[in-house]
Amino acid sequence: MTHARLTVVAGPMFAGKTAELLRRVAAAHDQGRAVTVYKPETDNRYDALALVTHDGRRLTASPITLDCAGLVLPPPGALLVIDEAHFFGNALLAPVRSALATGVDVLLAGVDLDHRGLPFDPFPTLLCEADEVVKLRARCARCGGPAVHSHRLAPGSDRVLVGGAEAYEPRCRACFPR
Ligand SMILES: [Zn+2]
Repeated sequence: MTHARLTVVAGPMFAGKTAELLRRVAAAHDQGRAVTVYKPETDNRYDALALVTHDGRRLTASPITLDCAGLVLPPPGALLVIDEAHFFGNALLAPVRSALATGVDVLLAGVDLDHRGLPFDPFPTLLCEADEVVKLRARCARCGGPAVHSHRLAPGSDRVLVGGAEAYEPRCRACFPR
């Protein structure tokens, strides 16, 4: 009997979420575990075939479409890693639950509040179902306080807008415009 765990790393842009994934993947590799890494194919900010931290560290990842059709579950005992989970919305829930049901540990990271400050699917559900939640905070671009929000600098109302420092900046609750 295997007992799979769901770990969710959540926070705003520039909070170090991908770096936390890389640390945990390195630990899994050290334990000799098989690790499968996916990312949304639309996130090509740094590299189409790797997770890349804002300071340039990288981990090879397979791009998949936003309906998760290309997600192949690894064998029981493996670790399934998915970055930028908010890109997938609730389409991510079924494969995550399937993985956990078959004994695959799941490690996810993404932005849990959208640019309007509202809960970002699939995080409301994932955070409830997780065994472990890691909430990371960035540094507010205005005051240096703890940032929970990703303030969008670029125009556009789409919920997902791929971008880096030119498009978003972290803001604390007090500095986040409402
Ligand atoms: Zn602030």
